[in-house]
Amino acid sequence: MTKLYGAIEAGGTKFVCAVADEDLNVVERVSIPTTVPEETMTDVFAFFEKYEVESIGIASFGPIDVNRKSDTYGYITNTPKPGWKDYNFLGEMKKRFDVPYAWTTDVNGAAYGELKRGAAKGKDSCVYLTVGTGVGAGVVVGGKVIEGFGHPEVGHITMRRHPEDHYEGHCPFHKDCLEGLACGPAVEARQGGVKAYDIPKDDKAWEILAYYLAQACMDLTLILSPEKIVFGGGVSKQEQLFPMIRESFKEQMKGYVPTPDLDDYIVHVDLGDDAGITGCFLLAQEAAAK
Ligand code: ADP
Ligand code: ZN
Repeated sequence: MTKLYGAIEAGGTKFVCAVADEDLNVVERVSIPTTVPEETMTDVFAFFEKYEVESIGIASFGPIDVNRKSDTYGYITNTPKPGWKDYNFLGEMKKRFDVPYAWTTDVNGAAYGELKRGAAKGKDSCVYLTVGTGVGAGVVVGGKVIEGFGHPEVGHITMRRHPEDHYEGHCPFHKDCLEGLACGPAVEARQGGVKAYDIPKDDKAWEILAYYLAQACMDLTLILSPEKIVFGGGVSKQEQLFPMIRESFKEQMKGYVPTPDLDDYIVHVDLGDDAGITGCFLLAQEAAAK
């Protein structure tokens, strides 16, 4: 009989739930709006009731608790999203479906998908950097997603300011951290509210954004030396950004660290919106094999 695996990509706007076979042929996939746990999770449970899966891989918006020794392992922790703060996501799943689980962040899931099947295929390490409503990064090194006492929060690293940028920043905690200066809403606020996709391709806004994203790539390179940096998220659909990020990276790095050919090193996602769910399936299969 064909073995089936479950995947949940839990995002701030929607949950994607899917079931696939060993070869990742998707049997069914649904998208459930993220409202409150009582509503959203009821639909999630109902979806998985229909199948007998070997294991489930979950990649969730965060912050989440990934520390196996913690009493709140498997919880969504300090989110401002109503109803989800301190929600025992993994525990509620386990109560209903007694199978092995993989539990990680949304960006780690996407990083894993891109490493195994996407832009970083064949590599052992990569960073997946998403630039959308927020900024975040998933990190895979030596084929394993990086988790310590918690998970990396690359979106909130400190930035050196672009000399011509006087926008105060969008992060409620730090104002002008990476997310505060480079997320979609920051790009739009800096432009006086013009939607990011309506900003002309040759506008200074993109140069300023590229400067910050290049700086993030430089820091990630200096700390992790990944084999590839893969960009995802709505804002990264602006293709003109890529040559600008590479150019700015070269300028800011000043030749200190030799890197792979930048056209190959700083790239756009390959799996598009499927990166996360693909990563979840692969992590689920690994959890089942353990
Ligand atoms: P989310 O982060 O909520 O999953 P997105 O990755 O689409 O969703 O990020 C939303 C942000 O990205 C918004 O600020 C939106 O204006 C911006 N955005 C979405 N698509 C594009 C695009 N094609 N070009 C530029 N900005 C975009
Ligand atoms: Zn911040």
